[in-house]
Amino acid sequence: MTKVWINGKLFDKTDAKISVFDHGLLYGDGVFEGIRVYSGKIFRFREHIERIYESARHIALEIPLNREQLMQAVQDTVKVNAKNDGYIRLVVTRGAGYLGLDPARCSDPQVIIIVDDISLYPAEFYDKGLTVVTASVIRNHPNALNPRIKSLNYLNNILAKIEAVRAGCQEAIMLNHNGEVAECTGDNIFVVKHGVIRTPHLVAGLLEGVTRNAVIELAREARITVQEMALTRHDVYSADECFLTGTAAEIAPVVQCDGRPIGNGKPGPITRQLRERFHQMVRGS
Ligand code: PMP
Repeated sequence: MTKVWINGKLFDKTDAKISVFDHGLLYGDGVFEGIRVYSGKIFRFREHIERIYESARHIALEIPLNREQLMQAVQDTVKVNAKNDGYIRLVVTRGAGYLGLDPARCSDPQVIIIVDDISLYPAEFYDKGLTVVTASVIRNHPNALNPRIKSLNYLNNILAKIEAVRAGCQEAIMLNHNGEVAECTGDNIFVVKHGVIRTPHLVAGLLEGVTRNAVIELAREARITVQEMALTRHDVYSADECFLTGTAAEIAPVVQCDGRPIGNGKPGPITRQLRERFHQMVRGS
């Protein structure tokens, strides 16, 4: 049975529990990471660890382990679960407190490591491409809850995801408070126009995806120009290609937005090329 690591102890999946007074549950007060294991190797492990410490720092949450201890715990949990290819969910909650908001009255942050199978979009979506809508719900204003924080507060994204699913689509593009494209509910977004790759700049208010950064590096290695800039719906509707990036999704082509075909309505050549390069990088194949 799957073993879950909580604060230094391993529990069977069914016995892995935390307090109902934990502010992670009561208020979404906590941070998390989603990480991939490919052929026994944890992909961009350092980057994910840095990001969770940065997220924790922003919300003034002290992770009760140092980076080395946390990395060791993740590695041990992967090993115990004998997962050569899988998905790691690392969660740090504020811990149990009283029924008020004050985090100073929470004493025991919970560090949780779950190692599970990866759930991807079905293979057909990688061949045919995804369809998306732009959500009416905007991405959090950075001065409200900065999307750079990978917090346990995903309700904003969940509302957008509900819109996508109700429209019969797989994902929703979330705009920011200025009406610019920010990202999708669980993925970053890229468009391709006249051979140039474009993606929203971090100041648009989005999570700095580990896969996003890897794809930007791969594209530049392939001598494809990458521009981080403000994008609007117009840039998506009029793009030659569009794709999403994320730990779970990897690189997923998008072929339709708000009922309009993107390019010729089929996954494009640059998306395909990047997918191949990405697979070579993570799987060495
Ligand atoms: N944006 C959001 C809102 C996300 O939740 C995620 C990750 N699930 C991403 C982008 C992609 O980030 P990464 O490539 O680090 O998984």
